Amino acid sequence: MIEKVRCLIIGSGPAGYTAAIYASRANLKPVLYEGLEPGGQLTTTTEVENFPGYPAGITGTELMEDLRKQAEKFGTDIRFGVVSSTNLSTRPYKVTIDSETEIEAETIIVSTGATAKYLGLPDEKKYAGSGVSACATCDGFFYRNLKVAVVGGGDTACEESIYLAGLAKKVFLIVRKPFLRASKIMQQRVLNHPKIEVLFEHETLGLTGEKVVQGANLIKHRGQSNEQQVHIEIDGFFLAIGHSPNSEIFKPWIETDEVGYIKTIPGTPRTNLPGIFAAGDVADPHYRQAITAAGTGCQAAIEAERYLSEL
Ligand code: NDP
Repeated sequence: MIEKVRCLIIGSGPAGYTAAIYASRANLKPVLYEGLEPGGQLTTTTEVENFPGYPAGITGTELMEDLRKQAEKFGTDIRFGVVSSTNLSTRPYKVTIDSETEIEAETIIVSTGATAKYLGLPDEKKYAGSGVSACATCDGFFYRNLKVAVVGGGDTACEESIYLAGLAKKVFLIVRKPFLRASKIMQQRVLNHPKIEVLFEHETLGLTGEKVVQGANLIKHRGQSNEQQVHIEIDGFFLAIGHSPNSEIFKPWIETDEVGYIKTIPGTPRTNLPGIFAAGDVADPHYRQAITAAGTGCQAAIEAERYLSEL
């Protein structure tokens, strides 16, 4: 049997839960599917100190648990499940969950987030939450006056290096090519920064340390006659090699940019399809913060309510 839903929310990060709180309170009776990683990316960080309202900080898991409880309190139907296919060619929109449950939704809020890319080293898992991070804004504060490394050569890597250089004693920027890919102005800022040392043509082989990261083993000029192993002492290892927005399943219908971020009408969460809204990191290559995701989740729910009342 096909279930009919007025507001379907896909994803359970700050965007999804905030959309759920607003949609429930607007009596849209939202159904939220949590996806593969209930609670989203914040559940993989430790302390969250930059979400307004928590002067003493809160763990990512607790914050997401609180958001979930708040959504449940107002009646959101929260379910475990992953969208396996979509047919958004006509309204109501058809979505299949786990290849078995079929839903027809009048409105959809896509808040499936983005996934930070990792190098694929076993040590990244070993030291997850113990020195390895993919978010300088989230975790940089823990490395005040310590030494850190950032991997990547794009705008994100440069931006995160500069941010970290404002806190840490020293920042190594590990770049696999002999040049930076970032915009010229970012390159200049990085290359002229007294605390940042750019290690061109270096790749990471592994991390060292007892329980937490204490160093990294690198290889310089890999595969060339002057190939050389290098060890650096660091307390934090930050990945900044890009993110993958989780938009694959919507791509046949919803417009995305060349990287895969869902395109929205500037200043709104509206996509190219009426009644489908995108909130949080899946539509945000720039800010990627819990609070900005929550903000767009709120916007998406308000838009869904207005759309339904106009129908
Ligand atoms: P990019 O794709 O631009 O850059 C990724 C970087 O990571 C590249 O230097 C790439 O190296 C490197 N990299 C990728 N895989 C590996 C690997 N396995 N090992 C080592 N290095 C690796 O991603 P960004 O997140 O930096 O930027 C995404 C988009 O967002 C860009 O368009 C960027 O301009 C934009 N942006 C804009 C900002 C701003 O305007 N303030 C801030 C942040 C991002 P290589 O060059 O060798 O491929």
